[in-house]
Amino acid sequence: MNAINVAINGYGTIGKRVADAVDAQEDMEVVGVTKTAPSFGCNLAIRKGFPLYCTSDDPKRISAFEKAGIECQGGLSDLLSIADVVVDCSPGKVGAENLDKYKDAGVKHIFQGGEEHSLTGLSYTSCANHYENLGADGTRVVSCNTTGLSRTLIPLFEACGSLKVECTMIRRAADPGDSKKGPINAIKPVLKIPSHHGSDVMTVKSGIEINSLAVAVPTTIMHVHAIVADLPDNHGLTTESIVELWRETPRVIVMLGEGNRLTTTAEVMEMARDMGRKWGDLHEIFVWEDGVKLVGNRLYYFQAIHQESDVIPENVDCIRALMGTEHDWRSSVANTDAAISRYYSL
Ligand code: NAD
Repeated sequence: MNAINVAINGYGTIGKRVADAVDAQEDMEVVGVTKTAPSFGCNLAIRKGFPLYCTSDDPKRISAFEKAGIECQGGLSDLLSIADVVVDCSPGKVGAENLDKYKDAGVKHIFQGGEEHSLTGLSYTSCANHYENLGADGTRVVSCNTTGLSRTLIPLFEACGSLKVECTMIRRAADPGDSKKGPINAIKPVLKIPSHHGSDVMTVKSGIEINSLAVAVPTTIMHVHAIVADLPDNHGLTTESIVELWRETPRVIVMLGEGNRLTTTAEVMEMARDMGRKWGDLHEIFVWEDGVKLVGNRLYYFQAIHQESDVIPENVDCIRALMGTEHDWRSSVANTDAAISRYYSL
């Protein structure tokens, strides 16, 4: 079978990670990545051997790369002409401007969580709705927070048939490489209530009833979710069986906080750096085992999300869904994760 030709439009925080994850897979190839203008990120693409293109077709903008001594293969249209699928990793709300370019080029397209669900009318999380996305022309991989909520809530929903969830998202203020955002010494509540995170889960799993609140706090390394979920009567679950369920769920790590001295996001990220993935990424959702408690029908738990990386393997599975090359989400997840592990152990 021929490899799937994948273009990455926007080689920033998410784009550079998606490019590596795609490069790790045997059934896909990175045919090019884009940058808006010469910058330090171009050197990474070139070192990796990814053909570099400009996000624009404007000859002046393309020649700016050559002037800066950076080899540029052409504009976005040139890249789309050789791609089967494009993963749009442009900044939030900017991706929408690219939709018509993808449609005109007849290229399948995947947007990120910064875009609205209505842009494609379809969203994606590996464990929620891989099957619904099979063969689609375009979709959106939901945000890092929605991916995190889906990873633990969907297996729970499937185990007990219904769920009513209230959750608070304690969000990092900015990514570590971002100098423009804040707050730096304040807690900033999202005053739009409920926040969009809960309803976003329903774009991939409509059966879960969920509301969310959000606050931004001065940290750059992770989000934390404080979750309260009401299970139906006769759910038959215990705290221990829920922990066991998540242990068996792909891309979820459940560990004791106290016993392992992993009681804060700083230590969780230090453990992630020990795992040896590039940029110290943690694709898995981290659940503190000693913070899980079922009281009657009400479940309480905390989880931590590495915002820059949990969506990365989802993009790889999503490529297979759109291309219709893998119908079983579990099999795609297993292949994606094994390939990424091999890639970083070389
Ligand atoms: P980023 O700013 O780090 O990178 C965006 C890249 O796109 C930059 O290289 C920028 O130069 C390029 N770009 C600018 N205009 C463009 C255009 N018109 N066409 C193509 N590329 C363009 O942003 P990011 O953090 O990687 O976010 C990308 C998307 O992923 C957003 O939708 C965001 O909401 C989503 N997302 C981000 C995170 C995160 O924590 N950073 C997590 C999950 C999802």
